[in-house]
Amino acid sequence: MGTPKNQAQMTSNFIIPSPREFCAGFIHLLYPELCVACDRDIPLKNACFCLKCRQKITPFDLSSPGDNEFTDRFWGRLPIQYGVAGFHLSRKNPIHRAIHKLKYHNKPEIAEILGRELGQKLKLTDIQQMDGIIPVPLHPAKERARGYNQSLFFAKGLAESMQIPVYSKALERKKFTATQTKKNRMERFENVGEVFAIRQADLLEGKHLLLVDDVMTTGATLEMCGQQLLQVQGASLSLATMAIADL
Ligand SMILES: [Zn+2]
Repeated sequence: MGTPKNQAQMTSNFIIPSPREFCAGFIHLLYPELCVACDRDIPLKNACFCLKCRQKITPFDLSSPGDNEFTDRFWGRLPIQYGVAGFHLSRKNPIHRAIHKLKYHNKPEIAEILGRELGQKLKLTDIQQMDGIIPVPLHPAKERARGYNQSLFFAKGLAESMQIPVYSKALERKKFTATQTKKNRMERFENVGEVFAIRQADLLEGKHLLLVDDVMTTGATLEMCGQQLLQVQGASLSLATMAIADL
């Protein structure tokens, strides 16, 4: 009908593009001029990779979003409805190059393109509608240094395709956890509440939330954020990343 689904979408906590912004972004971002991995060839229609690069990467199988390699990694750790990724990540493959570029070469738009593409694919599955998307937050100091949070751009791309809001301020990162991967899981999880905090519990109550990050490896960060989100009354959780790395 062209009207917002609910009044809440009108508030500043949500990032829903106006039709005009959406069209401008669509033309500018959905069709990058050059393949985002090789910067050499023209991308395939509705995609960000050229044919040569696309042939080198494996899309994540979305036929069973509730029971797959992604969800298996959270078994016994975090109750999730769905776990999905855009692609499989392996060293030096085009998706690896694209993610490196979007994180370290000031190319956040690649994350948005990958989000749009995954969102379009998810619409073709029988996945239940979700209520909102939450990007894994960066520590403010890290976000300032990089200039953006790549997961927020991924969330925005997904949100456009799925037509649901992004709750970008609902989860806050309080602690800089650069050395986290060196600790074992038990040590890391002693202080989950000190690292991430819910800021807008009222907004999230009773909702099916899609928590998103760039790459899924062991899922430690997603697990910490997810634990916090599931403290919210009636909330349920699904996860999505741009890529899943082999363990
Ligand atoms: Zn290419």
